[in-house]
Formats: sequence, structure tokens, C-alpha cells
Amino acid sequence: MSEIKIDKERCKACMICISVCPKKLIKLEEHAQNRAGSSYVKFVDDSNECIGCALCAQSCPDMAIYEVIK
Ligand code: SF4
Ligand code: SF4
Repeated sequence: MSEIKIDKERCKACMICISVCPKKLIKLEEHAQNRAGSSYVKFVDDSNECIGCALCAQSCPDMAIYEVIK
């Protein structure tokens, strides 16, 4: 029942977090952009699979994943 919080305004859609998540719970938001005009990613965990490992947050170069709730 862990979850992460993503600040979409900081995200640049570099996809690093997508590549490191062992559960593949981070997805590119296909149909929207942030205020800077960049694509961004979103947390999608319909089956409560997030293990709170924080690999995503530790890997983000822009500190856009600002909270991991374990
Ligand atoms: S905390 Fe771990 S399992 Fe959860 S979204 Fe981040 S990388 Fe994936
Ligand atoms: S690593 Fe950070 S900047 Fe890159 S896609 Fe993930 S949240 Fe966005």
C-alpha cells in the first residue's frame, strides 16, 4: 500500500523513473502537458503493487518525485 507523489511541473519526461521501477508503475501521461509545455509521468497502481523502494525518487534528476509513502 505504498505510493509516490510526483510534481508534474518539475517532470521533464526523461523516463528514468519508468525504467527503474521494478513494478512498472510509472507511465507517461499521453494526453497532457505541464505548464512548461513538457510531457510528464504519472503513478498508476491499480493493484497496490508499489513496494515503497524509492528507486524512482532516488533516480529522478529533477527531484520531481517528492514523496514516497511507505
Ligand atoms: S517506490 Fe519503487 S515500486 Fe513504488 S513506484 Fe517507486 S520504484 Fe516503483
Ligand atoms: S525521472 Fe523525474 S523527470 Fe524523469 S520522467 Fe521520472 S519524474 Fe519525470
